[in-house]
Amino acid sequence: MDRPEWVPHDAGHEFTTYIMSAADAQVGVQESPNMQLVKKKKLTTDDYVNGILERNMAVLSKAITLIESNSLAYISQAQDVLQGILPQTGRSIRVGISGPPGAGKSTTIESLGCYLCKQGLKVAVLAIDPSSTLTKGSILGDKTRMELLSREKNAYIRPSPSAGTLGGVARKTRETILACEAAGYDVILIETIGVGQSEITVRSMVDFFLLVLIPGSGDELQGIKKGVVEISDMIAINKADGDNIQFANLTKSAYQQAVGMLHHATPGWKTIVRTFSALQNKGIADIWTDINTFMDLTKQNGAFEERRNSQVLHWVKSMVEEELTSRFYNNAAIQEMRPKVVEDVLSGALTPTSAVELLLNTYYSKQ
Ligand code: GDP
Repeated sequence: MDRPEWVPHDAGHEFTTYIMSAADAQVGVQESPNMQLVKKKKLTTDDYVNGILERNMAVLSKAITLIESNSLAYISQAQDVLQGILPQTGRSIRVGISGPPGAGKSTTIESLGCYLCKQGLKVAVLAIDPSSTLTKGSILGDKTRMELLSREKNAYIRPSPSAGTLGGVARKTRETILACEAAGYDVILIETIGVGQSEITVRSMVDFFLLVLIPGSGDELQGIKKGVVEISDMIAINKADGDNIQFANLTKSAYQQAVGMLHHATPGWKTIVRTFSALQNKGIADIWTDINTFMDLTKQNGAFEERRNSQVLHWVKSMVEEELTSRFYNNAAIQEMRPKVVEDVLSGALTPTSAVELLLNTYYSKQ
């Protein structure tokens, strides 16, 4: 099969095969209008909007590639597409899944994802992997990790966008969530690895935050940052199978005690601690029941709407800040004068406050 130009450059062969066969399967024949649309070199904004709303997976993939593009022309078209689908977004359950490497996040996503597909739900799996900027996609890049789920026709798996800052990656993921929602996905699972700021970033775009840990004691030993427990709505101790069951229960008790003393992440919701086995599909249904209870409760007590509202306003604010910072540092006059100002601050010839005033005055007079 030829590799179409819209396939992300770092995607494996499986991606193409899967997406193309999904597009074929949808219509049964090779040269259907759907396939012609997908093969079209350049889609119009209406092609994208209609394709997404018609739940055409190949168009959805192409739209996400557009969203992930850093070229100015594509960014502007992506915004037009998003504007067109906006009324059809917001209806999914957005779940963040974090935990240290090896805790079993992918196995959990596969197991939970397959369970949800069996319930007739459509599941999209996205990822935020800050390391992928350097390594070109270390998580979810390898699709064989979720082989069963990738074969489900109601599942869509997309690797982490790999270029740019965490802010840039977050913007792309937020917009990808909207595209998936407009394409009819009921549940969006967003995986992140327990490194740096990425958990906080994912928390800021999901309704429910699930922390997957392994039997063992102490946050540091688990390789998770202090504070991550506090932003979690559920702590799920994985690998509670075989000889591990007792150890997993001990870990559960320890975390139950710990969360009892912490501030809970969501108003009205007491952080749940449970054990489960992703590999043996034990406890997966219970996790899903808890997520639904959480959704009902937070929709009733207003926490859901309040969180979604504050997330979107925070998104706007952080993008304004990023854009202003980038314009400031890319300004020619600032680039020219900055080394001298830095030197003067370091030598004590200029106070930091005066340096800021000087730089900002220059920026506003030389835009
Ligand atoms: P991730 O790095 O957090 O995504 O972890 P993976 O899902 O790749 O799992 C890491 C390893 O743990 C793999 O070898 C899995 O087979 C294993 N694993 C995952 N879940 C379970 C489980 O429930 N029980 C056991 N015994 N092993 C598991």
